[in-house]
Amino acid sequence: MHFRTRAIHVGNPRDPQTGAVVAPIHLSATFVQPGAGEWGEFDYSRSGNPTRKALETTIANLESGCGALAFASGMAAIHCVTSMLETGDHVIAGADIYGGTFRLLHKVVSRAGIHVTCVDTTDLDAIDRAFTPTTNLLWLETPGNPLLSITDIAACAEIAHQHGALLGVDSTFATPVLTRPLELGADIVMHSATKYLGGHSDVLGGVLIVRDKALFDRLYFTQNATGAVMAPLDAYLCSRGIKTLFVRVREQCQTALRIAEWLAADPRVSRVLYPGLPHHPGHAIARRQMNAAFGAIVTLEVQGDFAVAKQVAEATKLFQLAVSLGAVESLIEQPASMSHASYDAAFRAAHGITDGLIRISIGLEAFEDLRDDLNRALGQ
Ligand SMILES: *Cc1c(COP(=O)(O)O)cnc(C)c1O
Repeated sequence: MHFRTRAIHVGNPRDPQTGAVVAPIHLSATFVQPGAGEWGEFDYSRSGNPTRKALETTIANLESGCGALAFASGMAAIHCVTSMLETGDHVIAGADIYGGTFRLLHKVVSRAGIHVTCVDTTDLDAIDRAFTPTTNLLWLETPGNPLLSITDIAACAEIAHQHGALLGVDSTFATPVLTRPLELGADIVMHSATKYLGGHSDVLGGVLIVRDKALFDRLYFTQNATGAVMAPLDAYLCSRGIKTLFVRVREQCQTALRIAEWLAADPRVSRVLYPGLPHHPGHAIARRQMNAAFGAIVTLEVQGDFAVAKQVAEATKLFQLAVSLGAVESLIEQPASMSHASYDAAFRAAHGITDGLIRISIGLEAFEDLRDDLNRALGQ
């Protein structure tokens, strides 16, 4: 079956008891067992819950994995991966990963004596050079944040495996509609379900998907041992969101491309970063790696300084001033003062996160309305 069909039907059978087309939400924390010491499929909702299981079944299928695990947030999902590491281990992470992941690696994971190196993952030689005998995880994001850099997943998988390490890909920006990292050789795929999977800015969640059963078992053990599982109501909202993921993402990408092309022709804008534009450094890889569309996040740089970018971001009316992304409503933010404010200025400068950058997340509003809103804000 096609992706969009599976997104609706896999993991979502009708309720056998009532015929309900939408399965009930199982809020129960515990489950009656057939006998003492005899276990049914579910025993306690931290260890497994039917509503969470339905979501995990759907997303595992869409990402071509053997199994998936749903967490209370994207960060909880990434933390579960890093919890498999031991003192003395080394992690290589992309230079433009999500700020929360950077903080987790440098302020929490490092406390356990785990070493972290950040590299520009668009530079394959630099990745290769960063490996040490104790490196066992390469963690990357593509498209990256906020510069929308594109990393070659298949090439990174090859390098990681040559060094005996796992490749984990935070695929939040790409969604399984555009890229399926496990099919390209990655070992772990992660999504902040808060973004496109949920798609409506009304749920926090994270998922991990893997293709190896032994790795799944290790992650499951850690998830159950640490307990940051996704709640049933949230799992229901994510499952509901995924049913429309394909049409939402396709439509949002189309509008994003039109907005990026329009911005690129505007003299008030000094730079537009969007993988769908032919001059973007990752365009060729994106054409190969992303399924006929380039995502719905666009980053632009305005002429002028911090104050100008701040003013533009505050002046839009349809684009709401907020972090997060991937939902039906368009959002706008200034990385230097918002999503990337926790990095020091020197790091931001070294990685091209200038004060004039503005990141926009394109929602499902009409192109013309979004264009007019940006036009008005840029004109002020
Ligand atoms: C939001 C986000 C996360 C963190 O997810 P939460 O659900 O906010 O914990 C991780 N990676 C990327 C790329 C994100 O956009």
